[in-house]
Amino acid sequence: MADRFDMLLNVRNVIRMTIFFLVGAGSLALAGGAMVHSAQSPAQAPGAPAAASPQAGASAQVASPFGAQAQRSGLNIVVLDPAHGGTDPGARGTGGIRESEIVLDLATQVRRALELAGFQVVLTRQGNENPSFDDRSAIANAQRGAVFVTLHISSTGLPGTVRVYVNSDLAAVTEANGLIPWDRAQAPFLGLSKKFGDLVQAMLVQRFKGSPDTALTAGVRQLRTTAAPAIAVEISSIVVEDRAELDRMAPGVADAIARGAAAFKPSYVVANVPGTLP
Ligand SMILES: [Zn+2]
Repeated sequence: MADRFDMLLNVRNVIRMTIFFLVGAGSLALAGGAMVHSAQSPAQAPGAPAAASPQAGASAQVASPFGAQAQRSGLNIVVLDPAHGGTDPGARGTGGIRESEIVLDLATQVRRALELAGFQVVLTRQGNENPSFDDRSAIANAQRGAVFVTLHISSTGLPGTVRVYVNSDLAAVTEANGLIPWDRAQAPFLGLSKKFGDLVQAMLVQRFKGSPDTALTAGVRQLRTTAAPAIAVEISSIVVEDRAELDRMAPGVADAIARGAAAFKPSYVVANVPGTLP
């Protein structure tokens, strides 16, 4: 356990160094491209959580500022976030069911379905740890051509249904230095997130009757700092008497996310600018 945790920390350090590199390179090379940085504290070390968002300048919604030299590559990474963990069990059912444990098992199945569909999967936690919101976003923000999916079990809602949430509107703020504040990282991606969310929700409603037809919007903290198309998938509900009822939903949820990601893939074109990636 300790070894794995140490390794995770090391991986994060590498990611932070990578992000710093991107921000540094991007400030010079990507004038006009959306960049994201941490607005938390000017006293933080250069390796503190921060994210470059070269995707934002070249998403399907925004004309590429990089002209004919840009190579284009598509979505190939899904960052999967089993929410909560560690000291935070998430929602708890009467029978001692913990959201943090169910979503970790669910993530294993979603990962398998995504890999079968040809995606590379990065997990924000592999065991009972509780990375911070910023740590989880930083993992996604360090990837190029990734989407982000956070997995939850709700404490409300009709049992047997599943809802997809995308972040509610955020004013896109660009600071005088051309950077987008860390807590507005999702703003340039809201349109793509909604499209991705609607596609996943459409797959879910086919399997889980009573689910919404389209993605809902909410102020989801985890999504706000994520510089990628990002959705929250929430299964109802933790109040079932036996967790087997939730476990039985996992294959259908996994399949719907994988199909939704595959359907979304053609919509998400990422500029690959030589010299800005390690
Ligand atoms: Zn939750």
